Amino acid sequence: MRERYDVVVVGAGPSGAVCAEMLAARGASVLVVDKKRPGWHKPCGGGIPESMFRPWQIPLSLGFEAASVRVVDVRQRLLRAPLRYRTVYRNRFDEYLAEKAVRAGAEVVYDAMLLDVQRDGAGFAVRTSQGACEARYLVGADGCMSTVRRKLFPEQLPESSCALAIEHWYRVPHGITTLDFYVEPEILGTGYAYVFPKDREILVIGVAGLGMDKPRTVLERLLELPRYRQLTRGAPVEATHGARIPYRHLSRLRDGRLLLLGDAAGLNTPIVFAGLPIALLSGRLAGEALGEAIASGSDAPLERYSLATLRPMSPGFEVCHAFYDHLLTDGRVPSFARIARSFLTRPHKLPRVLLIHRSLARLVDGLDLARMAALAR
Ligand SMILES: Cc1cc2nc3c(=O)[nH]c(=O)nc-3n(C[C@H](O)[C@H](O)[C@H](O)COP(=O)(O)OP(=O)(O)OC[C@H]3O[C@@H](n4cnc5c(N)ncnc54)[C@H](O)[C@@H]3O)c2cc1C
Repeated sequence: MRERYDVVVVGAGPSGAVCAEMLAARGASVLVVDKKRPGWHKPCGGGIPESMFRPWQIPLSLGFEAASVRVVDVRQRLLRAPLRYRTVYRNRFDEYLAEKAVRAGAEVVYDAMLLDVQRDGAGFAVRTSQGACEARYLVGADGCMSTVRRKLFPEQLPESSCALAIEHWYRVPHGITTLDFYVEPEILGTGYAYVFPKDREILVIGVAGLGMDKPRTVLERLLELPRYRQLTRGAPVEATHGARIPYRHLSRLRDGRLLLLGDAAGLNTPIVFAGLPIALLSGRLAGEALGEAIASGSDAPLERYSLATLRPMSPGFEVCHAFYDHLLTDGRVPSFARIARSFLTRPHKLPRVLLIHRSLARLVDGLDLARMAALAR
């Protein structure tokens, strides 16, 4: 660790690693600190649209192929949406992205917990469990419970706007090659259950929802149902992971020379909780804006790191937020026409918007909308 850096990034998850790579490739000096040790697995189903792999130069071999998404709705009807996904092991995925940042010239230090951070003139004084340094710019990419946000950002994510998700991993030959969502309102209320294959041997069964008390108990209750018992066939639980997921994002992503990325800024998708695409996109946009600011000696390019620029980059993010906002104001599923309105200038996106709309409509049918609305207030 040196004494000074152009940028310190807290968090070597997908958003932080991509941001660091962008910055280092533009000649900035970058330090990434992360409290995790290599091999640690961020609690996550790891489902990512296959279409993101090539443009992000991520080898397809890092992900297990899931040819479609299926929703078993409240009436036990099956909807199959031809959305191609891959599931990743988050330790391998995150370390691959961090390694790319190192190859571009960033310094990545693991087992380095952020202990304190303060504004220091125009920059920041950063203290970690592995040493202290100064930075001209600071990036908080440290997840939903972000220490950077809590210490320095003027706006916070209320606990009620964070969902909880917990999952069991089973080692069982399963033959599943789809991402499956089950609507279980009697047990889950505001959320759903998911069944994702990690590979041919490991099957993940999880639950995610808002305002869930005792999520482990909820998951155990769910697993007593015959449709899940049939999947696990008595195999013991190999591992259990759980964490918070933001449901709502902050009203802005930046405060001067401090930028928040991914979950730290609440950037996630309500209802489906697919935060990886927007985390990657926020890392790229922030890295480009910061790189330009450092190269030009002016902070004006940082203006581009905003919700207004980011939102249209991810149709999934845009559609889920529009759908959720309409759902809360109207108390019922918004029509496709309403959701598609902002895509009329991007007609090539409409087939994907239609698939996402249909899947969301099935996922929320039967959910406790009154409770969702109360929690959102
Ligand atoms: C159970 C579960 C299942 C999910 N499934 C999916 C899915 O299938 N698909 C999908 O798209 N999204 C999924 N998500 C959401 C997804 O995991 C997140 O949106 C995504 O990881 C956000 O990336 P990030 O880079 O913003 O933050 P993170 O991936 O959370 O990375 C933050 C990093 O910061 C580090 N850190 C935190 N605090 C400190 C500190 N004080 N000092 C130093 N380092 C620190 C952490 O160790 C971590 O490496 C799921 C989430 C959960 C909880």
